[in-house]
Amino acid sequence: MTDTRAFSKEKLIPQSPLPYISRKALKRVGDDALPIPTKCECGGKVILSKNSVIYNGKEYGDWPFVYHCTCCDRYVGLHPNTDIPLGTLADKCLRDARKSCKPPFNKIWQLGFMSRDEAYIWLANKLDIDKTKCHFGLFDENMCEKARTLCEDFFTKNKVKVNLRTGEIHA
Ligand SMILES: [Zn+2]
Repeated sequence: MTDTRAFSKEKLIPQSPLPYISRKALKRVGDDALPIPTKCECGGKVILSKNSVIYNGKEYGDWPFVYHCTCCDRYVGLHPNTDIPLGTLADKCLRDARKSCKPPFNKIWQLGFMSRDEAYIWLANKLDIDKTKCHFGLFDENMCEKARTLCEDFFTKNKVKVNLRTGEIHA
């Protein structure tokens, strides 16, 4: 459900250290909005910080913030110009799995086999999950691997040889 603040008339007061929250960006996130995390699955407290706390003092990206656990190494970034997390908190293994399994999926719509929306519906059906739950930011490692296998099978069936790292198509 779209964050109700997207439609409020009052000034949106961001949680520190966010400089602002954009209603337009909240609307863009729309139904994909996840609750703001306060507790990690390890039991630790989750806080919002600049992502320089993760990257050895350097800030990365246009919206350099993270929700991170104060006890373990789990963290997650934010949708740009909002305080909405991109997914659930993830440790290194899960972050790597999400990072490596999403590009093959993206190729399906980027190469025009389906629209982005159709691709998510296709993947949700194949994984037998609700479309609202079909986001790499919500997947565990097992789901990430399943998704990657499905996407690779898709390219095999369509006789497309794609370099899933670079996105190049080979004849
Ligand atoms: Zn934790």
